[in-house]
Amino acid sequence: MNAASPAGGLEEVTHDVAALMPMVRRVVGARVSDQTLADDIVQETLLRVLGAVERVEPGMLEPYAIVTARNVIASTWKERDRHRRNQHRIVDLRLPDEPVEGLLADEERSAVNAAMARLSERERQTLVAHEVHGQDTRSLAAEAGSTAGAVAAQLNRSRARLRVEYLLALERTEPPSDRCRPVLLALSSGDRRRQRDVDAGRHLLECALCARLSQPLLERGHKREDEVRVPVREDRDVVLARQAAREVATGLGFSRTDLTVIATSVSEMARNIVRFAAPGEIVVQVLEEPRSGVLVLAHDTGPGISDVEQALTDGYSTYHGLGLGLPGVRRLMDEFAIVSEPGRGTTVTMIKWQPEGSP
Ligand SMILES: [Zn+2]
Repeated sequence: MNAASPAGGLEEVTHDVAALMPMVRRVVGARVSDQTLADDIVQETLLRVLGAVERVEPGMLEPYAIVTARNVIASTWKERDRHRRNQHRIVDLRLPDEPVEGLLADEERSAVNAAMARLSERERQTLVAHEVHGQDTRSLAAEAGSTAGAVAAQLNRSRARLRVEYLLALERTEPPSDRCRPVLLALSSGDRRRQRDVDAGRHLLECALCARLSQPLLERGHKREDEVRVPVREDRDVVLARQAAREVATGLGFSRTDLTVIATSVSEMARNIVRFAAPGEIVVQVLEEPRSGVLVLAHDTGPGISDVEQALTDGYSTYHGLGLGLPGVRRLMDEFAIVSEPGRGTTVTMIKWQPEGSP
């Protein structure tokens, strides 16, 4: 996920998303009565919106947060259903899983074929040459009498269309209106100006199909294998969180100094959660844009911080002068943002980037 827009800055972006929190709470509260579940859904919604924030034009942020909340609620119910069915299956073993999985793979293959058929012959050839045969944009440009930049832009447009057509093929449906495809394309390509031009935000609120498809289109790149979540309740979780962060950062080729910095910051945040605000969670994510980095999110369900400005002042510590405190962690990391709701909890988001020029 690319939470840190280089244009807006983490703090600004987090602030924009945090401002949506009361509205998201209302949307979720109206549909989910269980308070703990509602909190989880709100948190998941904000995480997802944060993950898509740089591909969404600012005016669309609110509608996107609303449909995301609905999608998260729907998938929560679905997950519970599946769980219930599987519990049943423990008793009744007559239904093996395999044929179902085979069927799914077939379905995906035919959706890819249907989507490819929607592209022009030239688009298809370029895409296959690049993605399957690994031909680079420079040599493709030479063949087409074009520039590498133009070829790259064309490839991006083709991929964006392919994603839209693939999802539509999986749905086995034609969109209900002729506004759908332009909206879906604007989302898929992350083209914020097009999103504004086609009034994508309003359309998402009116069209159930596009609302549902907006999720996979805007969440792409947010791969599960790029994310580690560690629940934080007690001391040993601090160690697990630190190890998880170190592992992810090691995989990205961070220097030993930076590994220590990242591990120290994560320890500090996790220890803070254990002492004052458990249960909580540390989420470590891989960033790829504008260069590689790790994003660490420390979320807790504690009393919250009533004065964030003050908490970030040197000499002020949330726990009586032990450890680095928030100001220390902020200095260690490249980007740092806090969202706190008194009585509900605090989310600290921080990023360490690879130095410029690193792989
Ligand atoms: Zn639509």
